Amino acid sequence: MNTATAPAAPATSAASTTSYPAVQLFVAGQWRAAKGGETLPVKNPATDETIGTVALARKADLDEALEAAAKGFDTWRKTPAAQRAKVMREAARLVAERAEAIARLMTMEQGKPLAEAKAEVLFAVEIIEWFAEEGRRVYGRIAPPRGAAQWMQVLKEPVGPVAAFTPWNFPINQVVRKMSAALATGCSIIVKAPEETPASPAELIRAFADAGVPAGVVNLVYGVPSEISEYLIPHPVIRKITFTGSTPVGKQLAALAGAHMKRATMELGGHAPVIVAEDCDVERAAKIAATSKVRNAGQVCISPTRFLVANSVRKAFVDGLVANTRAIKVGSGLEKDTGMGPLANPRRLAAMERLTADAVKRGATVATGGERLGSLGNFFAPTILVDVSRDSLVFNEEPFGPLAAVWGFDKIEEAIAEANRLPYGLASYAFTSSLKTAQQLAENLQTGMLWINQPAAPWPEMPFGGIKDSGYGSEGGPEALEAYLNTKSVSTLCV
Ligand code: NAD
Repeated sequence: MNTATAPAAPATSAASTTSYPAVQLFVAGQWRAAKGGETLPVKNPATDETIGTVALARKADLDEALEAAAKGFDTWRKTPAAQRAKVMREAARLVAERAEAIARLMTMEQGKPLAEAKAEVLFAVEIIEWFAEEGRRVYGRIAPPRGAAQWMQVLKEPVGPVAAFTPWNFPINQVVRKMSAALATGCSIIVKAPEETPASPAELIRAFADAGVPAGVVNLVYGVPSEISEYLIPHPVIRKITFTGSTPVGKQLAALAGAHMKRATMELGGHAPVIVAEDCDVERAAKIAATSKVRNAGQVCISPTRFLVANSVRKAFVDGLVANTRAIKVGSGLEKDTGMGPLANPRRLAAMERLTADAVKRGATVATGGERLGSLGNFFAPTILVDVSRDSLVFNEEPFGPLAAVWGFDKIEEAIAEANRLPYGLASYAFTSSLKTAQQLAENLQTGMLWINQPAAPWPEMPFGGIKDSGYGSEGGPEALEAYLNTKSVSTLCV
C-alpha cells in the first residue's frame, strides 16, 4: 500500500474487544489502587478510544514505596547473587510464557505493530537472562599487600534503592534494562513507569513478583511525572536515579540529582546521522534504512534521522528509500501485515506536521508521505524529505517520528562534520564497503553507538548510551552493572 495516499486503517474489532486492565500500583509486594483512589485514562492511539485506567500515586503512596524499597534493599543486598540470578531467570521464563498477551496489551496502549511488541517482550527475556548471569560476575579484587599479614580488598556493593523513570516508546524495554541491572547487583527499585502505556510494564513487574522477588525489592508507581521525580530524587532513601526521556527533562533531573549528590544515569534524546558513502551497497542500505526508520513509527531515541548521502549515489539511494517506504503498510498494530502503527500520542502527530511544514517552507521536497492519514487515531505517513536545508527544524530538533531528512555531501569529512554538528551524541549509522572509511568514522564520530552496514543491534552485552546532550552512563554491558555499584576499599592488618 502506498503510504502517501492510503487512508489510515479504521479501528479494529480486536482492539475494541480485547480486555485492557485497570492498572494498579505495586508497592511492598501488593497490587493496589492509589490511596486517594485517583486514576488516569489510558487511550488506544489507533482508535482514540479510552481503553482503561491507571492508578495515580501521590505522596502517601510514594512514602509507602520508599519505606518498602528501604526494607527490600536490606533483604535483597544480602541475598546471594546466585539466588538473585535464579529468581531473575524465573521472571524471564514467565515473561516468555506470557509474551503473547503482554505484547497485545502493549500494541493496544502504544500502537506499535504486534510483531514489534512481541519482539520487544522477547528481547526483554534476553536482557533479564543476560543481567542475571552477569550479576554473578560482580567481582571485587585483591590488591597485592603492602605488608605481611595484610589484606587489601576492593569490594563492590549495591548502591542502594533506585528511582527509575521510564517513557512510553518502549514500555517494557526501558524498564527492563534498569530493573535487571538494579536487581542483578542487589539494589531495590521504585519504577515510575509511563502513564500513557502502563499495562505492559505492569506485566513485566508482575513476572518478577510471581517469580519470587521479595516484597519491597520492586515497586511500581504512576502519577504526575514532575511531582514524583521532585519527591523521590531528593529523598534520602533513594541513592541512584536513572531516567530515559528527552534532553530538556533529563537536564532538569540530572541537576536535581546533582544537588542531592545522587548517582545518575541519563539516557536522553538523539538525532542519529546515517552516512551513506559512495562505495556502499546502495540498494541494501536503502532497504535497511527504510525498515529502521519506521520501527516504532520512528519514536526511538536511536532512530535514523539525518540521512547524509554521497551526492554520487544520492538519487539511487533516495529512489530505493522511497520505494521501500511506500511498500510499508500503515495501520492498526493489531492488524496482520501492518508495518507501522500510529504515533503514540497527539503530541507527536502535531510535531510531525510542524517539522514537515517548516522543512518545506525552507525549500525541501516531500518525496513521499508528508501528511496525517485519516482522522481517527494518530496516523502519519512515513515521510521522506529531500533537499532539506540544514537550518530546518527537522535537521536540528529530534523528530521522534517517521521523518527521514536527506542531505547530500561530496567528501566524507563533510558528512562527519555534519554528524558532529548537533549537541546530541547517541546513535550513528554508516554504510560503506571501505575499511578505511569505517575506521575513519569509528574514530571521528562523536557518538555513543555506531552501527556500520547494519541496523541497530543493542545487544545486552554491548554498552548502550550516549555522550554530549544525549546523556551519560550505559544501560548495556558490564558498564550497566557498574552504574549500580559502589566501590569500597578495605585494608586489614591482621594483628
Ligand atoms: P516529555 O519530555 O514531556 O516526556 C518524556 C518522558 O519524560 C516521558 O516519559 C515523561 O513522563 C517523562 N517526564 C517528563 N517530565 C518529567 C519530570 N519532571 N520528571 C520525571 N519524568 C518526566 O515529552 P513527550 O511528549 O512525552 O515525549 C517527547 C520527547 O521526549 C521526544 O521528542 C523525545 O525527545 C523524548 N523521548 C525520548 C525517549 C527516549 O527513548 N530517549 C523516549 C520518549 C520520549
